[in-house]
Amino acid sequence: AKAHQRGGHFTFSRAMGAEMRERVRMMHALRAAFANKELTLAYQPQVNLATRQPMGAEALLRWQRPDGSFVPPDRFIPIAEYSGLIIEIGQWVIETACAELVRLRALGHRAFTMSVNVSQVQFRHPYFVDMLRGALARTQAPPEYLHLEITESVAMEEPDTLIRMLAQIKETGVSIAIDDFGTGFSSLSYLQRLQVDCLKIDRAFVSEITESARGSSIAEMVVQLGRNLGLSIVAEGVEDERQAQVLEALGCPYAQGYLFSRPITPQQLAEWLATHNA
Ligand code: C2E
Ligand code: CA
Ligand code: CA
Ligand code: CA
Repeated sequence: AKAHQRGGHFTFSRAMGAEMRERVRMMHALRAAFANKELTLAYQPQVNLATRQPMGAEALLRWQRPDGSFVPPDRFIPIAEYSGLIIEIGQWVIETACAELVRLRALGHRAFTMSVNVSQVQFRHPYFVDMLRGALARTQAPPEYLHLEITESVAMEEPDTLIRMLAQIKETGVSIAIDDFGTGFSSLSYLQRLQVDCLKIDRAFVSEITESARGSSIAEMVVQLGRNLGLSIVAEGVEDERQAQVLEALGCPYAQGYLFSRPITPQQLAEWLATHNA
């Protein structure tokens, strides 16, 4: 009882309560938003650095409130993960992105790839691979043009479980990219044992590229590592021409970033492709 009278303790628990209430409020708001179709996907084009031709796109979740304002993914995705809603939302993301891939193929973009982010929580779900197979079957999307982006934290899962899961995903024909590569602590020898197809160089390393002589060393290392392991490499967050040129000189084949395009609507993507395809 005495502790409750202490100002510090009281303030602390009241703040905790407020934080919990805010989280619960966001969870309900997100559930309603998903039901009301306020969640959409934006697509950010990825290009071949040497030719600047389109290579694919990454699907990115957007939550637009009825008043027009956007809730950033970094705010609502942790809530989706925490509440388990990410399972349903993540399935919707995969199916929607697959349907978009099919639509773009029908427009003639037949070498175009679609990348989808997969949360750790989603990836660990026992029916993830079944869900993936179902999504491919329902949408008739060609698995070889679908890429799943997982973060290094997923890559640090229990090694045997992860190796088994990646093998199952490989069986479906879908490719795996390690997102934000270099920001986690996965060991390099471990990477060699995983069936991954692509490394994405995190934006933080790309922005350092033109900052100093040493700034490009991590990007350079990731490119070399990827090449030695026979993996594809996508640099993300490329904002200016100098970064693009340094990356190309380092031997990085693909990139995405505001220099080429911001994340855009499906209709804008179709228009972008129509004007950027040779
Ligand atoms: P991410 O997967 O690393 O996605 C790249 C983020 O960088 C996106 O932010 C994109 O809009 C932003 N970006 C792209 N090019 C540039 C650039 O040139 N400069 C700068 N400053 N930023 C750039 P966004 O859309 O806010 O997404 C944030 C994060 O939310 C994503 O990071 C990803 O981790 C997560 N996320 C987004 N959509 C999904 C989804 O469908 N499922 C899951 N599980 N996570 C998602
Ligand atoms: Ca990503
Ligand atoms: Ca990333
Ligand atoms: Ca990131």
